[in-house]
Amino acid sequence: QAQTNYRYTLASDVRSLLKPRRKFSHKGLYGHALLLSGGFGKMGAAVLAARACLRSGVGLLTVHAPTAGYTILQTAVPEAMTLADKHRKHISELPDKMENYNVVGIGPGIGKDKDTKTALGQLLATTSLPLVIDADAINIIAGSDRLKAQLPRNRIIFTPHPKEFERLVGKTKNDYDRLEHLKEFCKEYSCYVCLKGSHTAIGTPEGRIYFNTTGNAGMATGGTGDVLTGVITALVAQNYSLEEACLLGVYVHGLAGDLAAQKVGEIGLVASDLVDHLPQAFLTLA
Ligand code: AMP
Ligand code: MG
Repeated sequence: QAQTNYRYTLASDVRSLLKPRRKFSHKGLYGHALLLSGGFGKMGAAVLAARACLRSGVGLLTVHAPTAGYTILQTAVPEAMTLADKHRKHISELPDKMENYNVVGIGPGIGKDKDTKTALGQLLATTSLPLVIDADAINIIAGSDRLKAQLPRNRIIFTPHPKEFERLVGKTKNDYDRLEHLKEFCKEYSCYVCLKGSHTAIGTPEGRIYFNTTGNAGMATGGTGDVLTGVITALVAQNYSLEEACLLGVYVHGLAGDLAAQKVGEIGLVASDLVDHLPQAFLTLA
């Protein structure tokens, strides 16, 4: 009986989720995402997440980054609007007019400065937007019982790799134990978790687990997780449900990796190759 809660995501499953672009549409119909990302020496994470978000169909994208990232982002990602934090090296505040956005992605490259912790606490306490939470944003929450206690229900997607997941739920004994923790965590916080790995496992608040079937070992390289954050954030912006955004996002991210590996192989693959193959991945599914 319990086994019915475990599923594999196949191409046919995600294909039926994909929403075609409507002819008489404009950018306002595809959402406005806000990415809080980047830190001194890790601005590449913000660039990768931003480029991935744009390559996943978002209508508009604003990136809020430390001052030192302003020129980098404006140069590397001309399609994105950029807001400069008052702090040069890390994020220390939330942008004004949060009501302009319909999803927030936070985490890639942000570090764990105490100002950044404060800004994240403010985000959790004040917005009613759906949140895609990755990387050091996960680590910050994992390290604070206060933040954990104030996590809003039914509107968070976490995208931890196994180490980040263990910081969140504690040490796990083996893969099976890890899946049990995944189920419990998703139920307790009514959230979605994409537990990344060779077969990324997506946990839902109802206790289901979906295993992804795309991706390859070429993706075991820096920056690929930042790309996933951008993809999922873009899908939530476009009004995919949180569950659909996880399933479709993880699948298409892995498919982009597989298409990239067909061209450059697994050894030479870098995270930017995933971004470059996202369009073809979406095309393959359409
Ligand atoms: P991160 O550790 O945050 O950079 O995320 C790494 C990304 O690459 C995740 O989406 C993983 O699912 C993916 N990935 C890493 N190693 C593999 C692998 N051996 N096979 C398939 N996907 C992988
Ligand atoms: Mg990561």
